Amino acid sequence: MKCYLCGASTRAFIDKNGYTVFRCDACRLGQIYLDKNYDDFVKSHYSKDYYMGGIEESAYSDYKDEKKYIRLNFRKFLRKILAYKKSGKLLDVGCAMGYFVEMATEAGFDAYGVDASAYAIAEAKNHIPESKLQAATISDLDFPEKSFDVITMFDVFEHLNDPKNDLKKLRSLLKDDGILVIATGDANSLAATLLRRRWTFYIPPEHIFYFDRNNLSSLLEEVGFVPKLWFRIGKWLSLKYVLHLARTTGESKVANLLYKVLSPIASLPLYLYLGDNMATVATKKLHVNSK
Ligand SMILES: [Zn+2]
Repeated sequence: MKCYLCGASTRAFIDKNGYTVFRCDACRLGQIYLDKNYDDFVKSHYSKDYYMGGIEESAYSDYKDEKKYIRLNFRKFLRKILAYKKSGKLLDVGCAMGYFVEMATEAGFDAYGVDASAYAIAEAKNHIPESKLQAATISDLDFPEKSFDVITMFDVFEHLNDPKNDLKKLRSLLKDDGILVIATGDANSLAATLLRRRWTFYIPPEHIFYFDRNNLSSLLEEVGFVPKLWFRIGKWLSLKYVLHLARTTGESKVANLLYKVLSPIASLPLYLYLGDNMATVATKKLHVNSK
């Protein structure tokens, strides 16, 4: 398997959920080979079971329950965005149930959300006008060129199977002075290095690519973005969610037992800072010769 990003050779790094994560010898990008049609996969996989804990290895135990924590986490991103843009049109890509669309609207943005999951979009419609939402993958998006001031992707980038083309598409939707905000795992963080296959971001086949700051930077530059700011965030999570992560991605039997015993009462808030959530604010690189 050749590296998606730089074309160098890769080698098997870890096995999980029946998939092998390959890592590039040159740029260290991690990637899996998705043995199914991507569009069919994302449209069928991100169902009610995914968001509500029905899928054993899924990232969420109960996404709706986690809303107050998800909002706390989004608040930090909103503050960073407000340092660049106070208002304008905002698109949240991979918006799930639309919690960030809701917050951005409250903050004064004309905010839109898209998600491949028809289930999540149907839920989002309970609190966001239908005209602001699209159930679609990035390649299917139907917005006018250069129409957005801000495009955000929170914990979405690692789910894409062709991030290069997706970024090109998103670049075309962004105004020339717009900003792109991406938050994803850092596969070169200390937590990822120490935890190896138990690192919470290693959840194939949902997560297809595993970036670090260097190779994400290279990808952004290649498609015409300039990263202006890098930062890391911790996350507010419930005890229930932490145990869910430990029992699923960490494959801990003790956590599985505790999850079952404590589940009904485990809404205790925890703040976790592992240094493995990286984020960037990027702007468009404008070609000198193009008008
Ligand atoms: Zn590479």
